[in-house]
Amino acid sequence: MTDHYAVFGNPLGHTKSPQIHTAFAAEFGEDMTYGKVEAPLDGFEDSVRAFFAEGGMGLNVTVPFKVEAYDLADQCLPAAAICGASNCLKIENGQILADNFDGAGLLRDVEKNLGVPVSGARILLLGAGGAARGTIVPFLQGGAESITIANRSLRKAETLCEQLGGYGSLTPARLDDVTDSYDIVLNSTSASLTGAEIPISDSVYSGARLAYDLVYGKGKTPFLAHAERAGAEQIADGVGMLVEQAAEAFVWWRGKRPDTAPVIKDLTIPLV
Ligand code: NDP
Repeated sequence: MTDHYAVFGNPLGHTKSPQIHTAFAAEFGEDMTYGKVEAPLDGFEDSVRAFFAEGGMGLNVTVPFKVEAYDLADQCLPAAAICGASNCLKIENGQILADNFDGAGLLRDVEKNLGVPVSGARILLLGAGGAARGTIVPFLQGGAESITIANRSLRKAETLCEQLGGYGSLTPARLDDVTDSYDIVLNSTSASLTGAEIPISDSVYSGARLAYDLVYGKGKTPFLAHAERAGAEQIADGVGMLVEQAAEAFVWWRGKRPDTAPVIKDLTIPLV
């Protein structure tokens, strides 16, 4: 019996998920398909339930349905519960389970693929949206010494610090108030989608081992170009995070860990 998986989102034109999961399935000869479903904006839940009713085994969820995916699940694993959002569902004994692998995927990319240790690191996290929320706990649990959350709207950074401060050392800040230097600078704002500059001081990069833009496929974004100019040792975009979160989903669904390196290599756009 062939097992069916898919990515759900709207719009979905840009999705790389079918290519990634097809490569993972080929590595192990898994008997599965992976499609894409552009669910209507007001019809996500109906589309998901129809997919499972027709024998679907699991799905990835992208913009704008991650909160709805969390809401419809019968059970949420801890990462999804912390985020209040899910990027991955599966069905087990008739129950829909929700997890969220964005943070775990980013952590694995930083440590394993880029070789930058998180343990003991002082981290600057730019942005306080959904991707930031998913990043904080995995990085604190990975041993980060502290995370400063800098956002255009200070209130959102403060709220994240209040809600997740029990997991470790979190400090809120306005973007243009940050002047310390950090070991790792993560850009989880969506500024790079439109090519916008982020008003951040050069000083944050003096001694930075890594500046990482969660956005992928945009080449050397203004954020990455600034980090490089200001002295960051290494720059990277979010393609590795994308592939690593997919690998975590694959492990959850199929119980096998795929080799991500060739898939990342295929999808990488040079940072020029
Ligand atoms: P949200 O819409 O939830 O949050 C957006 C954040 O960006 C907010 O903090 C917002 O600040 C900030 N922001 C937007 N524009 C600007 C700007 N011009 N200058 C400064 N700050 C700005 O988005 P998500 O958290 O869901 O996603 C963020 C990014 O992460 C996206 O670009 C997405 O592509 C990427 N991503 C990548 C993944 C991967 O696998 N590589 C996975 C998930 C996300 P404010 O609160 O002030 O509005």
